Amino acid sequence: MAEKHVYRFGHDEAGNNVTEVAGKTVDEAKWITGGKGANLAEMANIGLPVPPGFTITCQTCVAYSGAGNVWPEGVLDEIDEYRKDLEKRMGKKLGDENDPLLVSVRSGAPFSMPGMMDTVLNLGLNDRSVLGLIKKTNNERFGWDSYRRFIQMFSDVVMGVDGQLFEDAINEKKAEKGVKLDTELDAADLKDLTETFKGIFAKNVDSQAHPEVAPDGIASFPQDPLLQLRLAEQAVFGSWNTPRAILYRKQNKIDDTLGTAVNVQVMVFGNMGETSATGVAFTRNPADGTNERYGDFLVNAQGEDVVAGIRNTEPIADLPKTPGLEQAGKDLYHVFEILEDHYADMMDLEFTIQEGKLWMLQTRVGKRTALSALKVAMQMVEEGRITKEQAIMRVAPEQLDQLLHPQFDPKAKYDVIAKGMNASPGAAVGAVVFSSDAAVSYKNREKPCILVRWETTPDDLKGMVAAEGILTSHGGKTSHAAVIARGMGAPCVCGAEALKIDAKAKEVVVSGTDVVLHEGDIISINGTTGDIIKGAVPLTRPSLTGDLETILTWADDVRHDASRGRIFGVRTNADNPADAQLSVDFGAEGIGLDRTEHMFLGDRKQIIQSFILADNDGQKQQALGQLLTAQTGDFEGMFKAMDGKTVIVRLLDPPLHEFLDNPRDLAVEIARAEGRGETESQLKAMRDRLARLDSFQEANPMLGLRGCRLGIVYPELNDMQVRAIASAAAHLIKQGLNPKPEIMVPLISTVEELKLVREQVEAGVKAVAEAEGVELDIPIGCMIELPRAAVTADEIGQYADFFSFGTNDLTQTTFGFSRDDVESAFIPQYLSKKILKTNPFETLDYGVAKMVKMGVEGGHKANPTIVCGVCGETGGDPDSIHMYYDLGLDYVSCSPYRVPVARLACAQAKIESNGGPKKLEK
Ligand code: PEP
Ligand code: MG
Repeated sequence: MAEKHVYRFGHDEAGNNVTEVAGKTVDEAKWITGGKGANLAEMANIGLPVPPGFTITCQTCVAYSGAGNVWPEGVLDEIDEYRKDLEKRMGKKLGDENDPLLVSVRSGAPFSMPGMMDTVLNLGLNDRSVLGLIKKTNNERFGWDSYRRFIQMFSDVVMGVDGQLFEDAINEKKAEKGVKLDTELDAADLKDLTETFKGIFAKNVDSQAHPEVAPDGIASFPQDPLLQLRLAEQAVFGSWNTPRAILYRKQNKIDDTLGTAVNVQVMVFGNMGETSATGVAFTRNPADGTNERYGDFLVNAQGEDVVAGIRNTEPIADLPKTPGLEQAGKDLYHVFEILEDHYADMMDLEFTIQEGKLWMLQTRVGKRTALSALKVAMQMVEEGRITKEQAIMRVAPEQLDQLLHPQFDPKAKYDVIAKGMNASPGAAVGAVVFSSDAAVSYKNREKPCILVRWETTPDDLKGMVAAEGILTSHGGKTSHAAVIARGMGAPCVCGAEALKIDAKAKEVVVSGTDVVLHEGDIISINGTTGDIIKGAVPLTRPSLTGDLETILTWADDVRHDASRGRIFGVRTNADNPADAQLSVDFGAEGIGLDRTEHMFLGDRKQIIQSFILADNDGQKQQALGQLLTAQTGDFEGMFKAMDGKTVIVRLLDPPLHEFLDNPRDLAVEIARAEGRGETESQLKAMRDRLARLDSFQEANPMLGLRGCRLGIVYPELNDMQVRAIASAAAHLIKQGLNPKPEIMVPLISTVEELKLVREQVEAGVKAVAEAEGVELDIPIGCMIELPRAAVTADEIGQYADFFSFGTNDLTQTTFGFSRDDVESAFIPQYLSKKILKTNPFETLDYGVAKMVKMGVEGGHKANPTIVCGVCGETGGDPDSIHMYYDLGLDYVSCSPYRVPVARLACAQAKIESNGGPKKLEK
């Protein structure tokens, strides 16, 4: 069968419903006739009053745009058949001089993109049909008002004429007449304006660019309704690819290749007097979920008047009480019920009342805040409208962040001085500080502060902990600042390039503005949006409602139900007892990654430095002894907080330079000492240390002496860590607790590495078990974060009890991207040029996913009971979580604040992958 490009909706001349549907359900149809078209058809089919019309498919838009704005063969004829059919159904003709048919032409993509694309109203009017409209309605003012609106909209939307020119002309007219409101202009004024508007059109439309409206080489407002219609349809298709529509899709992760449908629909008028009105409404409160009808209407107005805010709207509750609108108001309240019963969801809708009769122009599932999403989902389960599974699917996991972090008070007004990346959600207010020491000092004086850095380093941890929020001018969403901030649940805005930070002068210049900030100046940052504000914006505290807890418990039931697919666990990345406790409070079932290097900061740094730089064994042993004591204590704290739950401790991973001082700083110090005239013998110790530091410099540390290589080159480090882990476990077992540590080897690339380290770890655990007189069963596994490990997982799996996929490194090494260098430097360009669809450090890339797949399959081949999880940043991303379920992982691990998000996303992935209800649309 030839492809169908047009579908009709609504009734025929006899009042029979003649709607054609593009799919069995709205969800199926929306991919063809778009959300608006599919829902108009659905409303017509359930007997609601829908002005008749037809929909041109999204696929037509794709073909039209793909061919360089050329209509596919035969489609214009098909549309013309439907146009004639609509004229027959209405008993009216476009452009008729006695009783003209008028239509609206509106966009409607598969996902709603509010306000992003084009609409033309009152199409079909021309110099003759306007007289027919006047005759038929016996309303001269209405006729000229409709025509001038049409010229204005058509010129702006279809021809790209600056809309302000028309507004200026209206204002001039009002000044001339000495009136304030549009509604005070009479029929003669509007007729005059119509002529003026035609003049604006002729003057501002480029006749060469638009020869179709300039048959004699001079542009004039097109009088042929069929030409008006074709140009309006083309404009709607074209609006799919405007920069703002493209940006909206990028932000909302909507596929660029879907295209938009065009809905051509008979006009109904809300501006035909006091018994006419227009409005928008939600069936429940979209802000807080209260079960109440919510919305506004305007008497004697057209749709755009509501949006433009020219007049104050009335609350929807007043509609049934408004004289002349009582019946339509009652009908609308009945429609609310019908829609909720039919869709079993909170709906948003647009309506028009023409001379007392209600018409439905649109409905769709209403967008809502997290608070409202939770409340409405719970209410609908209680009302028996939806199942618990459907309720789980109704809450967007990404939205939960809104509930877990402080936010700017929604009522607050403020000016944004600069914007960065929204790296870690939540908002913070505090004094600008430029160093970690300053942050700590502010904290000690109980003064909230924001740590402002070019980029943070592991040394900044104490300052990051002390600060309310973190702001950097460099680095992307997986930069050090971002990862650590998310881990801590601290708001972070990163990569705000407009900030020129001079930490020495304790000053930030905000380029493009005259703002200069100094230490102590109060700023506010919004890590959810990336906004930076001078001064204090009031905050609201998160309220963890009972609804959130309930829905997460339902989600857990799904995740844990082995009869409905694999159990899908949620663990956390944490490296201190406080974070461990927090993540347990948020529902984590274990620790998927304890980065032990984070336990080597602060005072410990000197100890590890003295180990690395030691020139004699005694010094080395002393350092190791100190580390052993400290680490044993660390692990006892962790295992206690996670008693009975798995704690995967990763052996040391980072490149050595992260522990060592920067040789450049020491070189500067030496130069200063020389300047002060210090003697060679005084300088010798410093020079020796510099030589040692230099000997550890690497050209490419991320690919250098790090990961398991560190423990192979320095086996004493592994011995110490294994002893600390095993001893901590033994001590707690003796206290009657149930520690469950597992030991993970990082950055494995060959099976021989794992084999070697495993033997060493096993020997270490055995020695402690014997010495302590307890039985220790500590599984040993490894990270899969290098391509070689993924492709040889069938070998490596022989020596691993578990695999944890490190997608941070796996993404870096599969792409050959250094994440700190590329994320703010050129990933945004790659995204806008569509070289990449999404940032692979945020959402698992399909190439990296293939590596994971190979790893999971290889691992299971070698060891059928191997446990596989992920601990890279993508482990907390809902879209990636879905892929991880399909890839066969047993759990995801993410930062504590993402745990609730992951619990919900894991349940959704499982429900969807097992054929259950679908997620709420974006
Ligand atoms: C990873 O590479 O994904 C990982 C979790 O390790 P890290 O980020 O510590 O390198
Ligand atoms: Mg790694």
